[in-house]
Order: sequence, then structure tokens, then C-alpha cells
Amino acid sequence: MAKPIEIPLAVVSPDRLAPIIGPERMRIFVDLAESVRDFFTDRNVYNISSTAQGGGVAEMVVVLLAYVQGLQISNHWLVIEGNLEFFETTKRLHNLLHGTPGNGGELGADQRNGYESVLADNADDLETRVKEGDIVLLHDPQTAGLAVPMKKLGATVLWRCHIGTDEANDYVRKGWDFLEPYLADVDLFIFSRPDYVPGIVDMDRTHIIQPSLDPFSSKNLHMAEDQARAIMVAAGLATGTPVEPAIFTRTDGKPGEITRKADVVEVDSIPIDAPLVVQVSRWDGLKDMEGVLNAFAKHVHLPVEAHLLLAGPAVAGVTDDPEGLEIYQQCVGAWESLDKDVRARVHLACVPMDDREENAAIINAIQTHANVVTQKSLAEGFGLTVTEAMWKGKPIVASAVGGILEQITDGRHGLLIRDPSDLKEFGAAVQRLLTDPVLADQLGANARYRAMGEFLGDRHLAQYGRLIRHIQQLT
Ligand code: UDP
Repeated sequence: MAKPIEIPLAVVSPDRLAPIIGPERMRIFVDLAESVRDFFTDRNVYNISSTAQGGGVAEMVVVLLAYVQGLQISNHWLVIEGNLEFFETTKRLHNLLHGTPGNGGELGADQRNGYESVLADNADDLETRVKEGDIVLLHDPQTAGLAVPMKKLGATVLWRCHIGTDEANDYVRKGWDFLEPYLADVDLFIFSRPDYVPGIVDMDRTHIIQPSLDPFSSKNLHMAEDQARAIMVAAGLATGTPVEPAIFTRTDGKPGEITRKADVVEVDSIPIDAPLVVQVSRWDGLKDMEGVLNAFAKHVHLPVEAHLLLAGPAVAGVTDDPEGLEIYQQCVGAWESLDKDVRARVHLACVPMDDREENAAIINAIQTHANVVTQKSLAEGFGLTVTEAMWKGKPIVASAVGGILEQITDGRHGLLIRDPSDLKEFGAAVQRLLTDPVLADQLGANARYRAMGEFLGDRHLAQYGRLIRHIQQLT
């Protein structure tokens, strides 16, 4: 019987953010935490999501909850268990809510029964944990069906939807029709953008909170270029002679070593000194890794020695994403069809997921070493990969869709492509950044400044703090 797994949380003092965010921001955030701490004397917060690794939600939850622990507020992270049929249904929902048909599969009575039955099993176990007055924060469509049983237990139920689309179409409506029966009992909704809030959701019960990153996570901790090079080489992503050992800093401050290699489809390894274009994404059709590959092959001609690295998680690594293998195989097929010369400059890497922090350090090295970072999504809930590249001061070429529009103003923090299917414009923008270092540096610096001001965890936690104050008033 499916039951949730509790993911252990680190305890991290938020004080460590002080040197980065400064005393004023620190004070706002600590005052808010102080003002809600008593509320949690006899109640718990349960974050419930569908995977412990390999996507933006897992990425954020793990670091934000560590700070909450550091504020001595008791909270838990539970990851639901599901079967393949359940995750096929929720992936279908994910695609529909992004306004796309996905694989066009059914979303009828059988899928509803399967969805409800998996969540009923998970809810049985949750009954032994969640008590009246607790706060349950459900993430994304995968967990929406838990709202009714959690409400019955007397919890305050929040549902945070990290995905959405700016313009509703029939696919989007079909997705919301499926979810609507589960949402009536939700006390408060959280969306990343106002445009994502569907008509069926009461605006008065809705809060807008954008995602954030943690500057101290293994993914985002400052990495010197020599260290990034050493990690790229140790992870089997490039060839060269490192001048440093391939080590990184774990969240607890202890050193970690790169011991696993990425699985790379390529002719020869990337020379470490070659100009490098990178996209890091799950193997998901909406991230359009294949489009990046084709745009690079057809429309990036300079510099002639530039390479493209498409990096994603090991395909079995993201448990709630059953389409990963198929999309990855499509990319490999597209790579095989490339002309020999360009094929030698395109690399597809599956980065091992066995050790979350080692994976994060490898992604950090890839992003740090990149000359240009792309995010050619056809739809995008927010796009933490964009935030991560901004934080690292990288020049970015991205599609002007969804949450990317919340992060990048075209020509200021990066270059945006209005039509995500326009390979020519995308390739031209990549080439422009590869050949105009002054523009690339300026966009990167502006991006870093914006990430520092708007997309760090203190802002995110302060918004949660205000939300809790609001709940205090309601109860
Ligand atoms: N990611 C990762 N390893 C990978 C691919 C992606 O750790 O091999 C991370 C990436 O760095 C980012 C998150 O997964 O933190 C993806 O979040 P985003 O919001 O961009 O997209 P999502 O996957 O949630 O749709």
C-alpha cells in the first residue's frame, strides 16, 4: 500500500544569510519568524510533494525547510508514494495545465480512480501523523487530492501550484476540470504568477509567491572557475588537466568529492577551454532540449569551436516524471541525425542522482563553467534553472514564456525569444552572446543583481511568514 516517505531535514541557521542579504533584510525576516513562532508551539507544518529530487519543488523545499528548522519551527517533508499509472496521470495533468496535450492520453474515470486510490492510501498513513490545527502545505497536482482528507483531520490546508500558463485553452480547462473537485476544501492557494490562477479558484484565498534559491546550497554556492573545471573533468563532462581537486562543499559545510561520472552521449569529450552553451533541464518535452540541439546545429556558426551541453538527470532518477526516458531517447535520435561535424560539438549528459549534493555540485560546475545558459522552454512554471544562471551572473537566452517573464526583462537580464519555436532567432541570440563579451557580461551582471534582490530565500520565507500571520488571524 502506498504511503508517504519522510525526508530528513537539515537544521540550518538563517544567520548565515546575513553577509549576503545585509542587516535590513535580515531584520525583516527574523522579526517575522519571531512573530509566528508561538503559533507553532503545539502544531506542525507538513510539506507534502511528489518527489525528493530532480525538479524545482524538491530543490526549494529541501533548503527552505532547513532554515525553518533553524528558526526552531517544527516542520516535516513528506513525499507521497505512487505507481506508474498514477504518475502517468499526474504528468498528463502537468502537461495540460501548461496548455499542451502531452502524449494525448486519457484523463477519464479510470485515471481518476487510480489517482484517488493512490492518494487514499497515502492519506491513511497521514492520518497517523497530521493532527487538528496542523498546517498541511500540498505541492502541485500530484497531491491536490489530499486536500479533502487533510481537511477532515482538522488541518489548515494550503495548496501550492507551481505550474500554469498565461492563456487558458481547452487543454488547460480539461486539467482544471479534473482537479476542481479536490480544491473546494483548500483554505489558501499559492501560485507563482497571478496569470496562473484559474477561474475556479477564489482570488481572495490566493497568495502569489515566487520561488527562490539558496546561495549556500551545493547548487549555488560560489564555485571558482578552476573548481568548476575540475568537477567537469572528474564527472566525465570535459577533458583537460585540472589544477585543483574535484571537491565541493556539502550543506553541512563538510567537503564532498566527485566520485560518480555522468553518462554522456558524444563523439569526444568537450575540451575544457572550448566556449560552452549549456541547458540544464529534466528530460521533459516542454523544456525542448531537442529544440536547443537543432537551433545550435543549424543557427550557431560562431565561434566555430563552440560546444553545446544538454544536461539532465539520470533518466530513472526523477520518480514523478515517467516521460523522461522517452524524451531523452528522442534527443539521442536527434543527435544521431546531426551532421558529423556538428555532432562532435553536441553532448547529451545524464547526471547521476544517487547523491543529491554531488548532483547539485556537478550542475553548479556546469552552470559556472558555461559561457551561455539557455532555457528554451515551450512552457515554464517559473524556471529555477534560469534563477540559478542569473545568480551565477551568466548571460542567458530563454523563451519569453511563463515564469521566465517574471525573471528576465529582454535585453536587460538576458535575451528572450518571443516565439519559443523560432530556432533561427534562438540560435542568433546564442551566437550574439558568444561573440559579444561586453553585452554578455553586462546581461550577466544585471541578472545577478536582480537574483540577489528578488529571488533569494529570505524573501520567500518572509512571504510564508506573512501567510502564517494571515492564518493566525483566520483561526
Ligand atoms: N536539476 C538538477 N539536476 C538535473 C536537472 C535539473 O538538479 O540533472 C535541477 C535544476 O538545477 C533546478 C531544478 O532541477 O534546480 C529544475 O527546476 P525548474 O524550476 O527549472 O524546472 P522543473 O523541473 O521544476 O520544471
